[in-house]
Amino acid sequence: MGKTYIFGHKNPDTDSITSSLVMANFERKMGNEEAVACRLGNINKETEYVLNYLGMEAPELIESVEDGANVILVDHNNPKESIDNLDNVNVLKVVDHHAVVLTTGYPLYYRAEPVGCTETVLYKLYRENNIEVDKTIATLMVSAIISDTLLLKSPTTTAEDIKAVEELAGIAGIDPQSYGLEMLKAGTDLSSFSIEEILSLDAKEIDIKGIKVLINQVNTASIPDVMAKKAELEAGINKVIESKGLDLFVLLITDIVNSNSQTISIGKRTDLVEKSYGVTLVENTALLEGVVSRKKQVIPVLTENA
Ligand code: MG
Ligand code: MG
Ligand code: MG
Repeated sequence: MGKTYIFGHKNPDTDSITSSLVMANFERKMGNEEAVACRLGNINKETEYVLNYLGMEAPELIESVEDGANVILVDHNNPKESIDNLDNVNVLKVVDHHAVVLTTGYPLYYRAEPVGCTETVLYKLYRENNIEVDKTIATLMVSAIISDTLLLKSPTTTAEDIKAVEELAGIAGIDPQSYGLEMLKAGTDLSSFSIEEILSLDAKEIDIKGIKVLINQVNTASIPDVMAKKAELEAGINKVIESKGLDLFVLLITDIVNSNSQTISIGKRTDLVEKSYGVTLVENTALLEGVVSRKKQVIPVLTENA
């Protein structure tokens, strides 16, 4: 059958990286010996913490795959977040937890569930197929679930995520609270990144009823620490708005301890942020209380108010 490339979305997060590794292992166990875990971008500090903890290498960095190649998508299905020639490859499978955007002219295995993390779906796939979840796989899985659900506090968290974390933490031999907080904190270290990198680390560009919006999320244990760079961030945001022709750039600076986000929002449609959250942006910024999930508390709310 040839190589099968397995990858998550661009600007990969811990779920995208670990899911490519876990899915590749699953495929090989199921007899697809040429399944290879790949990634479409640099590893962030949080994921680096997980890989270092396990003494593991990151998946292979790729920019594209050859036309006609077999691929498996994890943690995404939106072509905008994937390889550029997605139309010209053969998508064998998708395992995901996002709204379905992808269409293909051929049948494929498609598994998506409205849970907090792709790894929660993968955990079920392992169980359904009696594939062993060893300590390494369990650690990869539990790390991603903690990451995507912000230690099970995000409104995206489901009973299945909670159950998976309990069981996986037992196999991994970790305390999810202390391990999880260390892992999330590692991800808040932005010291080695330029402003441009910070503004693209976890960026999602979406079209909301014809409005071009980019939403970028940065986790922190201290909002004031990030806000100390406000002027530089604003200058960087303005550059991105210009180069991408955006109507709105929403930067979410998410406090992982207190579960709030400070936003810096810039663009000609900042009224959308004000209307959506009943806030007034003062010098481009406002506190969005209780907002931690882009998927549940930002994209649908902006869409509803657009
Ligand atoms: Mg993701
Ligand atoms: Mg995910
Ligand atoms: Mg995320």
